[in-house]
Amino acid sequence: MTDYSKHSFWLETSGDDLTPRPALARSTEADVVILGAGYTGLWTAYYLLKTNPGLEVAVVEKEIAGFGASGRNGGWCSSKFPVTPAMLEQRYGRDAARALMLAMNGSVEEVALVCEEEGIDAHFHKGGILTLARGEHHLPMLRSAFEAYSRLGLGQQYRLYSAGEAQERVRVTNVCGALYASENASIHPARLVRGLARAVERRGGVIYENTEVMDFERGTAPRLAAPSGELRARQAIVLAGESYLSRLRKLHRAVLPVYSLIALTEPLTAAQWAQIGWQNRESLASCNYTVDYLSRTADGRILFGSRGAPYRFGSRISDEQDRHAETHARIQQLLVEWFPVLRGVKFTHAWGGPVGMPRDWMPMTEFDPVTKIATARGYTGQGVSTTNLTGRILAELISGKRTELSQLPIAQRRSPNWEYEPLRWLAVRYMQNAFLRIDEAGKQGKSRPKDAAVAEFLGRH
Ligand SMILES: Cc1cc2nc3c(=O)[nH]c(=O)nc-3n(C[C@H](O)[C@H](O)[C@H](O)COP(=O)(O)OP(=O)(O)OC[C@H]3O[C@@H](n4cnc5c(N)ncnc54)[C@H](O)[C@@H]3O)c2cc1C
Repeated sequence: MTDYSKHSFWLETSGDDLTPRPALARSTEADVVILGAGYTGLWTAYYLLKTNPGLEVAVVEKEIAGFGASGRNGGWCSSKFPVTPAMLEQRYGRDAARALMLAMNGSVEEVALVCEEEGIDAHFHKGGILTLARGEHHLPMLRSAFEAYSRLGLGQQYRLYSAGEAQERVRVTNVCGALYASENASIHPARLVRGLARAVERRGGVIYENTEVMDFERGTAPRLAAPSGELRARQAIVLAGESYLSRLRKLHRAVLPVYSLIALTEPLTAAQWAQIGWQNRESLASCNYTVDYLSRTADGRILFGSRGAPYRFGSRISDEQDRHAETHARIQQLLVEWFPVLRGVKFTHAWGGPVGMPRDWMPMTEFDPVTKIATARGYTGQGVSTTNLTGRILAELISGKRTELSQLPIAQRRSPNWEYEPLRWLAVRYMQNAFLRIDEAGKQGKSRPKDAAVAEFLGRH
């Protein structure tokens, strides 16, 4: 039997014994059939059942609910969107960008509301996000982000802090300023996903675990194919496997798996916290391209996450990539760089998982009434609250009960496919390497690498 608690501190402390639910034993059918019991699949099931009582919804999961990114993430339940507000404005115009940002705020509130209504103790804490400029070179990024939010009429949610104001919140080295964003929370990811699975079942949904979907068919007889049988759908099939969708032949280039890794300290002492500050439990980030994200857990540990594990040829996903030793060592070193008073602190857990990156960085939700295929994917590491939004949109699109959510720029759109190998491997490895070099040059006060603009351009397109 697989010990699922080994995949993250969150699964270990989810309060569940993680014994898999029964697998699909024979062919059957339901109104809506969903691949994947992560947040996307479960939020979709939840809202479908809430707005259409009596609907038959079945979810099929290869491992257990929360096995994927939903049970392993950094716990940021954030109004931040994978595409920056400036880029959203450029692509879709001011009104659509603003509507999307407001919908993201609404998703953070909605997660809190459902947790309360369904009795899910997901440790929801609305502490905001503090993005730190660690070096003068980061200040322009914070200013332009603040200006972009202000242009969308959302400036009241954000505050630019001086170095001194930032240090009053948290004492991190080399901080020259910060951007505070109030509409953000932190959660216990696995408690949320496991609680959601139970809420879906209470509303009549059925979840089959330990059942791998090998293929799917569109059209007049839509179905998911598993070794033990087929799951036929009367109304829709929802493909909610995020990065793992790249394992299906028909979707191999739809999404790119990129690894994000996390190291977790032991609980800090009261004296250590007194030295660090960080009393409001904001989520913390730097402006680095390699992405540093930190949380202070409810039991007083520091979670430090970062990208960096190299992309594998052919979009390979494997458990050993969760434990890429070099990246975990770099993260542990980074923690001490940020908080030198923590030199010698023990790390108790290290894990990671793949995030799903779409070719244009923009998450998508889509339902085609002809093929009967629905999907939501491509959150690039910002999926905790975004999946709540896409789940609500998919439920609307499938049941035909549309509101203004279905007009948002993430509704009824599709990202282009990634390139074929070896081009994909060459481009992604180049980008990963370039981002590391840009961050390193900034840290050392050196001028930017000559190809920085090229890497930035590719990173946006
Ligand atoms: C280390 C890490 C840190 C992150 N930190 C944050 C964060 O702090 N904030 C944030 O907003 N986002 C974060 N993310 C991203 C966020 O967790 C994801 O965007 C979100 O969980 C995606 O949910 P999902 O349901 O779409 O995908 P997943 O949670 O990955 O679920 C997909 C499920 O589908 C199942 N599946 C796939 N293929 C098949 C198949 N063929 N048959 C049956 N089942 C299948 C998988 O087993 C899996 O359980 C992080 C991700 C990682 C990996």
